[in-house]
Amino acid sequence: MAKVLCVLYDDPADGQPTSYARDDLPAIDHYPGGQTTPTPDAVDFTPGRLLGSVSGELGLRRFLEKAGHTLVVTSDKEGPDSVFDRELADADVVISQPFWPAYLTPERLAGAKNLKLAVTAGIGSDHVDLDSAIAHGVTVAEVTFSNSISVAEHVVMSILALVRNYLPSHQVVLDGGWNIADCVSRSYDLEGMHVGTVAAGRIGLAVLRRLAPFDVALHYTDRRRLPREVEEELGLTFHPTAADMVPHCDVVTVNAPLHPETEHLFDDELIASMKRGAYLINTARARITDPDAVDRALRSGRLAGYAGDVWYPQPAPADHPWRTMPHHGMTPHISGSSLSAQARYAAGTREILECWLAGRPIREEYLIVDGGALAGTGAHSYSVTG
Ligand code: NDP
Repeated sequence: MAKVLCVLYDDPADGQPTSYARDDLPAIDHYPGGQTTPTPDAVDFTPGRLLGSVSGELGLRRFLEKAGHTLVVTSDKEGPDSVFDRELADADVVISQPFWPAYLTPERLAGAKNLKLAVTAGIGSDHVDLDSAIAHGVTVAEVTFSNSISVAEHVVMSILALVRNYLPSHQVVLDGGWNIADCVSRSYDLEGMHVGTVAAGRIGLAVLRRLAPFDVALHYTDRRRLPREVEEELGLTFHPTAADMVPHCDVVTVNAPLHPETEHLFDDELIASMKRGAYLINTARARITDPDAVDRALRSGRLAGYAGDVWYPQPAPADHPWRTMPHHGMTPHISGSSLSAQARYAAGTREILECWLAGRPIREEYLIVDGGALAGTGAHSYSVTG
């Protein structure tokens, strides 16, 4: 029987919602490109309910306990006295979301003698030290595509919010004011701007597709080129590297995984090569930027705005410089955890557990590490140092 340790973010301050803003979710059974949404044998939750916080339990308790397994759910994940550290010692499976990551460091992996499976309920397994997971034979899996469109929508929203100066203008209303000049003195149209994405995978390409109707010039860089027909359809300009691309762009959006190739990619030097007044949107991972370089660039005016939802560490401390830097549109890590996304990644987590517990293969596209090596999606999207 397996012990499953699930680390989730805290419940709402007033407890689990007793009612919801909407009654249903649109039925989506395929992602762009044809991959099916998760196909577990069953789910024990109502799509549209809050599943990602502690009481939501990703809808897993009935399924696991009925089969005789143990489920431990906690939000307490930091430090050696945390519930996470205590329970990890004999856990077979760890589940966490990138929004509230249970960092599986080399030290923790070395001490987790029973651990065989680390599931990311969502996308992005960089909170797991992949070199160590490989060394310890731990399988790492994530629910590929489950929240890619959710994030792409957040990126488009953030670009418009920054370029149009939406958030400060909204604040004027909240403050009882009406000074239009204060609102519009930093407000522009997106139309005609050059927008580039670092990586055009599931999220990056979805961002490009959503922006095309805004009559912008679209750019991208990626390790691999998109098919020619996609480049032609969207009018894309390809650049071999981010350094080649960013000087041409008014808006840059980062949609690459965090791995050794991308860590601190946006440092002082790369940001200095961007157009004065460019906007940078990063919903990928905070450590793809140098946080102090971003702060400096906003204060100097090199960047006109920065937005995203990814921080390091998470949760961000109260004195994190990104909370107080000028012209930002940051949120907590929410873009991939809409109620719509939660229903998909909770179902995907259930699918992964059903397969693993029954000894059936996990979908190739969900695998990051398996059999002591990068596998599936991990084999082409990640790199390791070892
Ligand atoms: P995909 O794997 O579909 O796309 C990632 C793309 O990045 C691939 O095309 C990959 O190329 C490319 N890439 C990898 N390394 C580099 C590099 N050094 N330079 C340029 N391109 C590179 O992932 P998704 O689009 O689904 O997600 C991207 C990232 O977004 C995730 O890794 C995660 O960190 C983040 N994310 C954030 C969420 C949030 O809530 N804010 C939620 C979900 C994801 P190749 O095809 O050659 O591997």
